[in-house]
Amino acid sequence: MVQKDLGFILSRYNFRDTSVIANIYTKNLGKIVGICKGFYTQKKEFSSTLEPFTLNEFIFYPKRREIWLISFAELLQDYPYTRTSIGKTRVAAVFLNLIDSTMPLWDKNPEVFYLLAESLEALMRHNERKVMCIFLLKYLVLSGLKPEFNACISCAGKLGGVFSFSVSHGGLLCPRCSARAADARKISGDVASSMRYIQEAEFAKALRLSLSGSCEKKIINILEKFLAHHLEYSIFLEAPGEARIF
Ligand SMILES: [Zn+2]
Repeated sequence: MVQKDLGFILSRYNFRDTSVIANIYTKNLGKIVGICKGFYTQKKEFSSTLEPFTLNEFIFYPKRREIWLISFAELLQDYPYTRTSIGKTRVAAVFLNLIDSTMPLWDKNPEVFYLLAESLEALMRHNERKVMCIFLLKYLVLSGLKPEFNACISCAGKLGGVFSFSVSHGGLLCPRCSARAADARKISGDVASSMRYIQEAEFAKALRLSLSGSCEKKIINILEKFLAHHLEYSIFLEAPGEARIF
């Protein structure tokens, strides 16, 4: 049955001379793959550029096969910083690429859609490191990989005044358990409490949290390792030898 939905273009490629195939994260159906046949023949049904980072309204025909036919695409929103700021574009690209790489097809999750929408919007007015911290911490919760910051992840005991984070265990450890974990690393109380606050607060409240640049870098560094270990995913997209974003 024909379906109308909102969706962000995650990635796209040309198909033959006239068509475009795109991976799209939709509000109601999760990730889909769609083909816009005749996109380059300037069909009036395709008023969107279908560029990555854009939010569009689509009409498509869900099928059992992987690629669905899209009959209509209209641009609703794009993000001007993707043409002016390399730093913000790279961070936005991490959001798209992470969702594209780790979300299965047709796994409905409107919260992922809204997290992406809020994160792309937030990049307009906020620094990219802070938005990256918020996106990653919240995306891990929605992916079922919530890092534990409230009690020891190993024995559920109290944390005490010193904070040790273990990437392989997936959270903070109490002093007794951290002595037995090979990859436990001490982190400051500021980093631990900021991660816990961002994980639990609403997106808009998390954006208002004051974070130092060094705290943001440490959080991103921990989450980078966490994603590499648990999702075998590298969040940095630079070519070898290129400078890191953070
Ligand atoms: Zn413990």
